[in-house]
Amino acid sequence: MSKVKYYYDPDTLSYRKIEPKKSKRYRNVFLFLLGSALFGFITLILLLNTNLVNTPRELSLQREVQNYELQFEILDKKMEQMEQVLANIEDRDNNIYRLYFEANPIPEEQRRAGFGGVNRYKSLEGFNNSEIIIDATKRLDIIQKQMVIQSKSLDEIAKLAGEKEKLLAAIPAIQPVRNKDLKRMASGFGWRTDPFTKARKKHWGMDFTAPRGTPIFASGDGKVIRADNNSSGFGKHIRIDHGYGYVSLYAHLSKYNVTKGQKVKRGDLIGFVGNTGRSEAPHLHYEVRKDKERINPINFYYGSLSPQEFENMLKYATQENQSLD
Ligand SMILES: [Zn+2]
Repeated sequence: MSKVKYYYDPDTLSYRKIEPKKSKRYRNVFLFLLGSALFGFITLILLLNTNLVNTPRELSLQREVQNYELQFEILDKKMEQMEQVLANIEDRDNNIYRLYFEANPIPEEQRRAGFGGVNRYKSLEGFNNSEIIIDATKRLDIIQKQMVIQSKSLDEIAKLAGEKEKLLAAIPAIQPVRNKDLKRMASGFGWRTDPFTKARKKHWGMDFTAPRGTPIFASGDGKVIRADNNSSGFGKHIRIDHGYGYVSLYAHLSKYNVTKGQKVKRGDLIGFVGNTGRSEAPHLHYEVRKDKERINPINFYYGSLSPQEFENMLKYATQENQSLD
């Protein structure tokens, strides 16, 4: 309440109330209103700063952050699935594929190695959610590296598989004369009686008795390195170099169907059974050599014989009869 002021009126000889000017009154009201507005405004600012009240914009930002958090959780689960699938592929890679093709397994540490040196995640530091973002980025980096290593490993395996296929095609692995053309398997690998001297000596191959002119087939892919009559005892004979240290030899032929230097595939007709050289009767003398050592061809006929046929051949081959040489 403003003080009431009085003045002395000499005309009426009494005190009279001084009426405040209208303009002053208005000013007071205005000041009061301004003060209230300022007070309200300051209170509002303080309240907003204490987070007790949210603006609509803040509310919408909060909802957005909540949505980001939810999406991050979903991505996190997906990453976990990716890691599991990758781990499974790596396991098969190490324990089946690489093992099968005789390649060394790739150690776990190498597949999951982190990144040393400079801090790659510096730009992600210093935020409220830095931890989860850095963690997810690190995981993704490792997944990416795992995939690169896995992809390289599969490239290597594809190459090894190609080589293995070549090796398998090259190994002398079929019988060089058809079963239906065989009179009998005359003699196997090992100690036999020499048909000419009757002395016991080692027979270095297998003899297949068949009529003169019976077709002879290459037992594996390779290159003809000899097709001539210049090796004592073998008569007309063919040697095929299969690579990987393997050479097969076909002797006592009547006729050639290939020439020196020619490339052949397994099963190609290379010549015909005969009785040339040191031979007692028409037959094919067949040898397999590995790194210049003569080895028993019987161990190589997988695939081309039925179990019964193999059994019979084994029976004949192990009989200690006289070879045909
Ligand atoms: Zn022989």
